[in-house]
Amino acid sequence: MKLTYIGTAAAEAVPALFCECSFCEKARKTGGKEFRRRSGAVINDDLMIDFSPDAYTGTLALGIRLDKIDYLLFTHSHSDHFCVHELEFRMVPPFALLPEDKANLYVFGNRNVEAGIEAVFGKDLSRRGFDFSFVPPYQPFQIGRYTVTPLSAHHCLPEDAYIYLIESEGVSLLYGNDSGMLIPSTFEYLKGRKLDIVSLDCTLGHSPNETGHMGFAANLKVKRILEENGCVKDDTVFISHHFSHNGLRADDPGEVDWTYENFMEMAKPHGFIMSYDGLVIER
Ligand SMILES: [Zn+2]
Ligand SMILES: [Zn+2]
Ligand SMILES: [Zn+2]
Repeated sequence: MKLTYIGTAAAEAVPALFCECSFCEKARKTGGKEFRRRSGAVINDDLMIDFSPDAYTGTLALGIRLDKIDYLLFTHSHSDHFCVHELEFRMVPPFALLPEDKANLYVFGNRNVEAGIEAVFGKDLSRRGFDFSFVPPYQPFQIGRYTVTPLSAHHCLPEDAYIYLIESEGVSLLYGNDSGMLIPSTFEYLKGRKLDIVSLDCTLGHSPNETGHMGFAANLKVKRILEENGCVKDDTVFISHHFSHNGLRADDPGEVDWTYENFMEMAKPHGFIMSYDGLVIER
């Protein structure tokens, strides 16, 4: 399994669109890994998680072809993950010219995603070039070579935001954003399942808060519980992901700005790495 991060920031990106804070100014000067697009990822070359406002430019920059994507999973309906209007351009023709036998793009998500698609495209998707299926939490479904299980996350109640367990060819990925501290039913579902790659929401960065989003302290807590629950192997890779300038910035005495270099140095002893745009993890 090859996981490629297209973007790794929270909704306002890093540097944030209209922000003059010290971290954003530093990021503008440094560039490279300090530039973060809105979050999204691609598994191998055919399964995409979320379609952010930066999905097109991000995939273009990384050499990932959107026309090769067969399946699209949405985590929830916030605008940094669900840039729903872009789906218009999957229409064949006039926007996409594809071989006649090419299947539709299969799109999956929760009830809010379903309502968002209906609000833009109506109920009849027959000529749109994509299909939508509502998928309930904790019920695995098969798409091509993947077994996908949506797991409920507390992020923006009452919306039932999802994180996803994706299993393929003996490799298990837990892709977890946006979420606060994982909820008991999700920990329970994962109990005893060995995970190879664990990607966790770290929007809040330095903050110990774990409501709606997580910071690094909450990431450590998730790792500890997964270890206790028998989900972690010697070579499980833990990745902190979905960063905000507000979480990365050193606001309190004794803190340092969590640039890529500083975060990696801090996180390494805890067995975590930091996501960045273009990061590839292969298992
Ligand atoms: Zn987000
Ligand atoms: Zn800022
Ligand atoms: Zn969100």
